[in-house]
Amino acid sequence: MDSKFQKIRNDFPILNQKVNDESLVYLDNAATSQKPQQVIDALINYYQNDNANTRRSVHTLGERATEEFEAAREKVQKFINAEQSREIVFTKGTTDSLNLIASTYGEVNIQAGDEIVISIMEHHSNLIPWQQLALRKKATLKYIDITSDGQLDMQDARKKITDKTKVVSIAHVSNVLGVTNDLKEIAKLAHTHNAIMVADGAQAVPHMSVDVQDLDVDFYAFSSHKMIGPMGVGVLYGKANLLKQMPPYQFGGEMIDFVNQYDSTWTEIPWKFEAGTQNVAGAIGLGKAVDYLNKIGMQNIANYEHNLVSYVLPKLLEIEGITVYGPHDSNYHNGVISFNLRGLHPHDLATALDMDGVAVRAGHHCAQPLMKKLGVVATARASFYFYNDKKDAYMLVKAIYDAKEFFKI
Ligand code: PMP
Repeated sequence: MDSKFQKIRNDFPILNQKVNDESLVYLDNAATSQKPQQVIDALINYYQNDNANTRRSVHTLGERATEEFEAAREKVQKFINAEQSREIVFTKGTTDSLNLIASTYGEVNIQAGDEIVISIMEHHSNLIPWQQLALRKKATLKYIDITSDGQLDMQDARKKITDKTKVVSIAHVSNVLGVTNDLKEIAKLAHTHNAIMVADGAQAVPHMSVDVQDLDVDFYAFSSHKMIGPMGVGVLYGKANLLKQMPPYQFGGEMIDFVNQYDSTWTEIPWKFEAGTQNVAGAIGLGKAVDYLNKIGMQNIANYEHNLVSYVLPKLLEIEGITVYGPHDSNYHNGVISFNLRGLHPHDLATALDMDGVAVRAGHHCAQPLMKKLGVVATARASFYFYNDKKDAYMLVKAIYDAKEFFKI
């Protein structure tokens, strides 16, 4: 094994364990990624040395915590190339970020008869907030379809996005089909029709270099826990002029300017959207995760994962009885690979793989409308990250053959 890879792998203590007497092969990275010791240490260091509430205290610990929290915001800003750090709002995660936009921007700007355009491949967290907003406002929710090989149908996008459209909200990378959507092109389309462009970047930011200014998206949401950072913290990027116009999401401490008995005024962005005590340790841990990813380089991570997919996808496709969803050409397929094996429920398949130490997910992946479109109730899903290697990929394929033999299918 190459020494650079081994060094990276050793940073992730959790990977070094046996599951069912087999070495763990962790391939559930689309659900959550593992954490390097550097991120774990940042959390410990924060709680051992710096823990205090931010922005409320003039004492040294309070100032230190505030400084580190705001430094994490700047790291995230640079990581996605936002123009200003006040365009970075800390949230609980992608779900929270998307709900924030629907409940604030959506509540004010969507009227009866307006249209909201999403796609059939959306995760529930980029679907239900818009569906419920449309129901509340008597607006229409429209779905961009997918092509037969599981890519976003851009011809259909051109049909669905019209002058009636007020919001377009699309996943940057699908958590089921493993495709990257052409956000830049869709943002152009949305803006031609004076709609705003929202992107769900949960599966993109961990795996590729993302430049929100180049994509020209108005909002971009992602989660720390999928990019080797702690759970319970996420990001909403929003263009400053839009964030400034939006009403607050939640009310309480730290988001106010003045509070009178019968009315109140709000503080500036981003803090207007950060009511109450924040996940300070989480944000600092996310900052450390960004440092770690930057050290390896996002382009290197993308290239490495592409090589892994180019290795494993053809091997999976060779398996008799397998259906792989999404493109079969590894040039169009990211490290999320969903599949089914004829004659075996995906839950049974995932349980069988676990017997070989291989952790994959089985279920609807919070994408029930997509499952319906694919004509299945569930799939198995293997998802790779930069600490996986060809041996892990080989073990996945071997475990599937073992399962076939065990179940005689
Ligand atoms: N969108 C996509 C594409 C996802 O894969 C996920 C996580 N499975 C989410 C949104 C939701 O992220 P979180 O649970 O961290 O809020």
